[in-house]
Amino acid sequence: MSIAELVAEAAAPSMEQVGYSSDQCLKCNVCNTVCPVMRVTDKFPGPKYVGPQAARFRSGRTSPVQIKDWPILASPDVTVDYCSGCGWCTAACPAGVKIAEMNSQSRARLRAGHRPKLRDWGLSQTDLVGRVGVLFSPIGNWALSNRLVRWVMETFFGIHRKAPFPKFSRRTYQSVWKRRLKKRDISLAFAGAGSARATSLPGPDKAVVYFHGCAVNYYEPHVANAAISILERNGFQVIVPPQACCGLPAISNGLYADARGKAHKNLEILADYARKGYKIVGTSTSCTHTIKAEYREMLDMHDDDTEVVANATWDICEFLLDLHDHGRLDTGFGRLDEDLPYHAPCQLRSHGIGLPAMDLFALVPGLRARDMDHDCCGIAGTYGMKKEKYDIAQSVGRPLFDKVRASGASEAACDSETCRWQIEKATSVRTKHPVEILAAAYLAGDRARAAGDGAGSAAGSGAATVN
Ligand code: SF4
Ligand code: SF4
Repeated sequence: MSIAELVAEAAAPSMEQVGYSSDQCLKCNVCNTVCPVMRVTDKFPGPKYVGPQAARFRSGRTSPVQIKDWPILASPDVTVDYCSGCGWCTAACPAGVKIAEMNSQSRARLRAGHRPKLRDWGLSQTDLVGRVGVLFSPIGNWALSNRLVRWVMETFFGIHRKAPFPKFSRRTYQSVWKRRLKKRDISLAFAGAGSARATSLPGPDKAVVYFHGCAVNYYEPHVANAAISILERNGFQVIVPPQACCGLPAISNGLYADARGKAHKNLEILADYARKGYKIVGTSTSCTHTIKAEYREMLDMHDDDTEVVANATWDICEFLLDLHDHGRLDTGFGRLDEDLPYHAPCQLRSHGIGLPAMDLFALVPGLRARDMDHDCCGIAGTYGMKKEKYDIAQSVGRPLFDKVRASGASEAACDSETCRWQIEKATSVRTKHPVEILAAAYLAGDRARAAGDGAGSAAGSGAATVN
């Protein structure tokens, strides 16, 4: 096995290896000390208990050889459902126990053989909800802001009345993009990389595939506009292929079969591009982490398509910072004289790529970005939207909300959509994706240059600090 393969396997172990890892537990309790959910509620006994400790009873095995006989003799402890899947325990465990992954698998077992709750199924169907919401966006947006409708959603469906929901766009981003190509008379970007028409696409050093995810497609087209403007400015033709939900909401709700279906749809589209050397760049750090790691470690998918796509996938800030490291990033940022609280989402930390947005912010003159240095905003995808978990999620995120409010800033930044919605709802501080901040900095630079103000576009004088 090559070093690269060993590194990839360590980053994304199989379902079987996740199970094995419980045997490595040292009972040191470190995971319990970092768990944001255990910190705020007695309903959750903690990662050590529901993870490696319970796994021994669940597996019903007496030797590692029998692990192939999963599943499973005993029922998982139902309290595992209170795990938000933030991943802090896995990141902190000195013995490499895959606790968060184990918990996700346990949740899937809890659901197996039962019809899912309508609420959990609905929260997993982001494409269906998004399409219908966009189609009827004026009514949908009115309904989501109506107190009576929200009461009905809480009482009959279990979605908390104060859960943060974004507004539906008037059009899907896919349709906006198709119109844009039509205007420019470009049709090749819709061809699969394996098709004959795709032969005239620029090479992989001049084009990237953009995975926009559901948030951009149905709610936040401005994030795509910012990302694509930055990529084009840096010399890349952007390919936006048709795509499905990455599957993370289904994984989080224990609906693995559904998630696998979504994963296969995406892999069918993306694998051709990845094999031809194109990088797949995403603005949702949750989607990119799912494609990079969770198809393998949660859904136990280890075919060639999964591997090649995982290895080609980049979070957009990771990609832009890599361009900068290779001297290829346009650093003509203009001055943004502002304080910017920044929250690094749990999913970003699971990438193991540091905080690339903070490094990029440091290139923007005048920008005083500060990492809020808080573990979790509480939302964890759809976790904090659920009636029985809403208060827990708010308690988890409260120190972050207090810090953001205390900063006095007019806007904040965060790489994950549901975290942005959570922070914005809790603090009333407009919360943007880092690419929106960078696009604004490019615009400020262009304006300063047009006005002949060299000082306004001096790159590299921003400040990025940890709070
Ligand atoms: S941190 Fe790891 S080794 Fe320590 S108790 Fe938790 S699972 Fe076991
Ligand atoms: S994934 Fe997060 S909430 Fe779940 S046990 Fe680990 S630290 Fe706690």
